Amino acid sequence: MDYCKPHAGAERALPPPRGPAQRCVRPPGDGGGLWFRCEAELWWKSPHALEEAAISRLVLWNIDLTLVDVAQVTRAAYAEAFEQVTGVPLVYLASTGGRTDSEIFFEFLARNDVRLDPGEEPLSDFVDALGEAFARRRDQLTARGRAMSGAPEALAAVGGLEDTVQTVVTGAIMANAVAKLSAFGLDGYLDLSIGGFGSEHYPKGSLIQFTRMRAAQAHGFAFPEWSTVYISDSPRDVEAALIGHATPIGVVSGSATESQLRSAGAKYVLEDLTDTVRLVSAVREATSGTG
Ligand SMILES: [Mg+2]
Repeated sequence: MDYCKPHAGAERALPPPRGPAQRCVRPPGDGGGLWFRCEAELWWKSPHALEEAAISRLVLWNIDLTLVDVAQVTRAAYAEAFEQVTGVPLVYLASTGGRTDSEIFFEFLARNDVRLDPGEEPLSDFVDALGEAFARRRDQLTARGRAMSGAPEALAAVGGLEDTVQTVVTGAIMANAVAKLSAFGLDGYLDLSIGGFGSEHYPKGSLIQFTRMRAAQAHGFAFPEWSTVYISDSPRDVEAALIGHATPIGVVSGSATESQLRSAGAKYVLEDLTDTVRLVSAVREATSGTG
């Protein structure tokens, strides 16, 4: 049986493991290499193959106002689904930046003074209705929405980095998230099978952690916390990145200012996605394990 042990060679290549040494297993799809898995997220490499060590980078993207702006269509779908499920028109809106669809629904209920009966659980009906309302508006996405400036080039540039997997972490339910991205041809740059979506009804910080685990399972190697970034436009998502142990990269393309993103904890803030050289350098630096 192999055991994870800190050693001088590995300390140079990877941060030392936290906690006591754990029983190790070879990761799936390793192809006979010398990586070992220690508990859920700790991976350790034999000192005998340091030169071959592939540090895998996980780049997570927020969707709304980071990659696309389809707010008009989304708002119309929220209104239709809300009225269909509650029988009450959606008069008072809620701020949606950085929130999941389930959080938004419960805030709609409170703001519009909808009282639930004990035992009533309308969330799954709302999610179904929201998916249908959005699907009916798919042909409006390109007419009433847009990809953010530089989004396709940014995804292509980051996707071209070595040992990099990119996907999304979004508050939108999966079907709507996929529709938003595919309307603008952005889905092909992303591994959406491992993404974190609002349909899971977990806070964003948890979605980041689940996505990291799914990435390791699907791709067969480690995506350590220190080599994960979350690119987003809202302070709530910056905070979620810190909770989910990803380095936040802020983009000033939503309603938040640079100083609001920095106050929330973003060390890197970009004006938009058009400067791919700056973006790629921020991703590289944020995932270098030196910060
Ligand atoms: Mg956003």
